[in-house]
Amino acid sequence: MPKIIIIGGGIAGLSAGIYARKCGFECEIHEKHFKVGGECTGWERKGYHIDNCVHWMTGTSPSSDIHETWCKVHALGKDVEIIQNPSFLSVEYNGQKLELWQDLNRLRQDMLTISPEDAKEIEKFVANIKLYQSVILPANKPLEQYSIWELFSLIKSMFAVGRIHKEYSRMSMRTYSQKFKHPLLQKMILSYMPKTYNISSFFYVLGTFSSGNGALPKGGSTGITDRMSALYTELGGKTFCKKEAVSIDIDKFKAKRVIFKDGTTAEGDFIICACDASVVFEKLLGKKHLDKYFKLHFFHKHKHPVYSSFNAYIGVNDSKLRMSDTTWFEGKKFDVCNKKCNSFLLKYYGTEPNFSPEGKSLLQALLVQYEDDFEYWKSLYTNNIDAYKQAKLRIAQSIISNIEEHYPELKGKLEIIETVTPMSFNRLCGAYKGAYMSFILTPFAKKKIHKGHLRYIKNVYLAGQWLQPPGGLPNAVVTGKFVIQRICKKEGLKFVQ
Ligand SMILES: Cc1cc2nc3c(=O)[nH]c(=O)nc-3n(C[C@H](O)[C@H](O)[C@H](O)COP(=O)(O)OP(=O)(O)OC[C@H]3O[C@@H](n4cnc5c(N)ncnc54)[C@H](O)[C@@H]3O)c2cc1C
Repeated sequence: MPKIIIIGGGIAGLSAGIYARKCGFECEIHEKHFKVGGECTGWERKGYHIDNCVHWMTGTSPSSDIHETWCKVHALGKDVEIIQNPSFLSVEYNGQKLELWQDLNRLRQDMLTISPEDAKEIEKFVANIKLYQSVILPANKPLEQYSIWELFSLIKSMFAVGRIHKEYSRMSMRTYSQKFKHPLLQKMILSYMPKTYNISSFFYVLGTFSSGNGALPKGGSTGITDRMSALYTELGGKTFCKKEAVSIDIDKFKAKRVIFKDGTTAEGDFIICACDASVVFEKLLGKKHLDKYFKLHFFHKHKHPVYSSFNAYIGVNDSKLRMSDTTWFEGKKFDVCNKKCNSFLLKYYGTEPNFSPEGKSLLQALLVQYEDDFEYWKSLYTNNIDAYKQAKLRIAQSIISNIEEHYPELKGKLEIIETVTPMSFNRLCGAYKGAYMSFILTPFAKKKIHKGHLRYIKNVYLAGQWLQPPGGLPNAVVTGKFVIQRICKKEGLKFVQ
């Protein structure tokens, strides 16, 4: 059987590896880090477990298209407990609070109580969330392998949402927020997602959550990748860590071998680049291989921006907090990358008591960062590492002060455990501008999907979230599956689920 070399052992690389083995290919994953997982990872710090990634995972509902894929790669399964929080987000402003309940009747009622004068817009808001519950991420096979009838039935299943999607995919979050008169409802629209997204993305998130398809697997990010990695190994897949690919040798439109930083090489019949797209085109293949899709996305920043975050993990000397899973509130202004900031998302790991030592709890404050912020961190990291470290501590300290002011009962109980910047994601995973999701879906551009291979190099294929904006775990896992389906088709082999 042909041999496949996979560069990158994140969700996409692991998914590709598992399906490659199921289909009988010889397979090697080469990962630059000391362990697989990519952005979907975690580590231990001061007795706490730092969960780097998962806040919600599309595909937790057995009735969704993608659920089966998650189970086939053992990220989910009968042995994996699913945590369904009753509310997605708690938004607090001016002494008032709104919980985005999974129960849409409860959400509607609470919104009407807060702002009866917004009744008409509230009814529409809830109706839109219900319509977006029908939006599915095709996970069965790549779109080009759909028959006309399969395409027709896919389009038909999303017909109802299609009518409003056209309008909302062109509307900014800010424009939509202004449809509401009450400031708390306006803040709610703007609190969760980066401001450059279109509003349809927010409806998609709430539609997914409210339908029970956006819950959390117990054990968090490392739980997901440990199970996937174990299945891959069980199937006979080989993994090589601390193997940073630096280039791919191309001869007569065919990749001959992958060259690693330590001077070793690997050869295969197919090479799958499952690492960050910027690594592929800035390092492995070079810019001359950029195709139309990536030129469009990398060079039209206004239409296809990216984002990242500054994350502070805060230990609490108290094991019984009364907090929602995720909360947003405004506090005192503080400096972040030469800008003023007064809010962040605060996640409480109450459903994962094992992430903190006995008698303690863990919080994560997440502050959205844009491309200019990445440049700020990069410059500090490169030119003055002490200033970089001090900036991280100063921001984390300001976050603690704001938490203490908002929750006076926590005063004196908080401690900085870990800080992560966009530069961390760039250094550890090669993330383009520190972005750990793919290109943002803005109101200014149509969503496009990459076909997963390059026209002029016959045996190099791509996988990973950058092929399917806005990225995230579901797009990573399906592109890992799709790439093997494409190779099977090319080789005339039967794809094994
Ligand atoms: C803070 C945070 C919160 C998130 N929250 C969510 C969430 O709630 N829900 C959700 O769906 N998604 C979330 N994500 C996004 C999710 O983690 C990513 O979309 C997903 O893990 C991307 O997987 P990937 O395989 O495409 O890429 P990656 O995870 O980037 O994997 C690529 C791999 O390639 C390796 N690599 C890079 N260069 C080389 C090289 N030269 N040689 C060899 N190997 C190389 C990297 O080390 C990495 O392991 C979050 C991410 C972060 C960081």
